[in-house]
Amino acid sequence: MIGSRFEYVKHFEQPDSLLPNTWIVVRIDGRGFTKFSTKYAFEKPNDKRALELMNAAARAVMAELPDITIAYGVSDEYSFVFHKTCALFERRSSKLVSTIVSTFTAYYVHLWPTYFSEAPLSPPLPSFDGRAVCYPTVQNLRDYMSWRQVDCHINNLYNTTFWALIQLGGMDGTEAEKTLKVNFLAPMNKTMSLMLRKGTYAADKNEILFSKFSINYNNEPEMYKKGSYELVEPGTHNAALEADILAEPVQKSKTQAENDRKRRAKARIVVEHLDIIKDEFWDRRPWLLS
Ligand code: ATP
Ligand code: ATP
Ligand code: MG
Ligand code: MG
Ligand code: MG
Ligand code: MG
Ligand code: MG
Repeated sequence: MIGSRFEYVKHFEQPDSLLPNTWIVVRIDGRGFTKFSTKYAFEKPNDKRALELMNAAARAVMAELPDITIAYGVSDEYSFVFHKTCALFERRSSKLVSTIVSTFTAYYVHLWPTYFSEAPLSPPLPSFDGRAVCYPTVQNLRDYMSWRQVDCHINNLYNTTFWALIQLGGMDGTEAEKTLKVNFLAPMNKTMSLMLRKGTYAADKNEILFSKFSINYNNEPEMYKKGSYELVEPGTHNAALEADILAEPVQKSKTQAENDRKRRAKARIVVEHLDIIKDEFWDRRPWLLS
């Protein structure tokens, strides 16, 4: 077929294929969820249903996109990791990001009534932004995952203490923040600055929780302390799926891709809340990084 005289505009489109042989992470984040969580009266600091809804939407994304090897979620964000050999959409960034964002959002809205039956959604409806970043080495990828989990820990410890001071200690927000701003004059090293948030150290908050409210932070639910990761349960891999995960990059036909999708949808995707910073997690799941 001969093109029309308008077809030249196609060349205005810029190529955006991501660097080959690098780990692609697509992170999505809820837009304005501070407001959204107030509108639907999310329990503070952690609304269990909201987190489970995020996990369910992420599970649906993983089922629909078999190239994702692992996903990690906390608060209103989720990171999806594509194996470095991934060839989906010729690794085009805009295709990968927009497909994940729209699939996730569609399922978030679709599954909402299962988790919030008493509060139907009304505009403005939930939406998510997304970005793709390439990590060239396994160490970079692991550091990325560790970064998100450390962030989860720091935020959760702070928020748990902040809301205990309000909900159990009868303080208002300003008083609670002031209490958490106890000055610590010890010289700072790298580890200490990691633990620093809004002028407090982890030890202070553990201490406040325990001495004032008899709360042992260690006994808080794992999902709140560690976030959630999802992957295909190894026991439920069939040989073909396993081979797919380990396969060299190949251009899949639409039928093959569709079959993959169906197989993946049937395989059980597990949700766990383990430590993904330690070597043990990755040593036990060598296929994720090989
Ligand atoms: P932006 O559009 O820039 O992302 P935001 O308001 O979404 O703005 P975030 O930094 O993404 O800002 O923070 C997410 C907000 O949503 C936080 O205020 C957090 O407390 C709230 N939130 C998300 N999930 C939950 C949950 N499960 N329970 C309680 N609050 C939640
Ligand atoms: P891809 O995922 O690559 O976009 P696709 O199957 O969506 O694959 P498109 O090139 O986007 O391929 O084509 C859209 C398809 O949807 C066409 O087959 C078109 O006929 C069909 N389609 C879209 N809208 C309508 C509509 N309103 N009525 C009938 N068919 C439609
Ligand atoms: Mg944001
Ligand atoms: Mg947000
Ligand atoms: Mg966020
Ligand atoms: Mg089209
Ligand atoms: Mg189309």
